[in-house]
Amino acid sequence: MVEIKTPEQIAKMREAGLVVAAVHAATREAAVPGATTKDLDEVSRKVLAEHGAKSNFLGYGGFPATICTSVNEVVVHGIPDEKTVLKDGDIISIDAGAIVDGWHGDAAYTAFVGTGHAPELIELSRVTEESMWAGLAAMKLGNRLVDISKAIESYIRRQPRPATGKYGIIEDYGGHGIGSEMHMDPHLLNYVTRKRGKGPKLVPGFCLAIEPMVSLGTAQTDVLEDNWTVVTTDGTWSSHWEHSVALTEEGPLVLTSPDGGRAKLAEYGVTAAPDPLA
Ligand code: MG
Repeated sequence: MVEIKTPEQIAKMREAGLVVAAVHAATREAAVPGATTKDLDEVSRKVLAEHGAKSNFLGYGGFPATICTSVNEVVVHGIPDEKTVLKDGDIISIDAGAIVDGWHGDAAYTAFVGTGHAPELIELSRVTEESMWAGLAAMKLGNRLVDISKAIESYIRRQPRPATGKYGIIEDYGGHGIGSEMHMDPHLLNYVTRKRGKGPKLVPGFCLAIEPMVSLGTAQTDVLEDNWTVVTTDGTWSSHWEHSVALTEEGPLVLTSPDGGRAKLAEYGVTAAPDPLA
């Protein structure tokens, strides 16, 4: 069963989404050489507290932090700690979340630590982010869930292959419904498979977290002994981008983007819904 939200509930989710956007802005500034991933979690905790928001990550299945910090070959679910010191040339994916009045926001981005990154890393992050926007632009009335998967996968497949061979669209993880809980039905694959069918119709009040994860090699992952950290099986580096989005009668509203997704969706010929908080 998919939880369909009222416009009032979507407005609450927009509040949570803007807190997540604030966590992104603050952690992005703090993700510099010499910082530990624990430092970034402290930054996130401070922003959540300043906004009177709760963390949906902290305590989730026993997770000990308010963000996931996934460095280089770590795909997702990296645990912030004091040992992981960011170095010039690293890439880090930061996944953040917030709860406001019981409504959840969830979004992730990949950042470059310092300078001098290889062009294929810059392109990896660009391709991953842009595939997310292609997916967000497919959040349209009349579409089905599979149309989002298709938009993400076909964007990635249309890009020139990296020097390492090809992009791996991570298969074991994907997007999800979001609302009164962080992870809800339906699960959203970042690729199309015949086994899955077309999925539900996208109707007003449908909310999703859309989150492609792409590596410079394999689509396969392992989980480390801490039972959280997800790495590529071949050690290639990976990128993760995510936004939470609500479909309304007036189109999609990207809840975790400061402008509601207006500028990027326009590149795809899609008009973002008006911001209920504006
Ligand atoms: Mg998510």
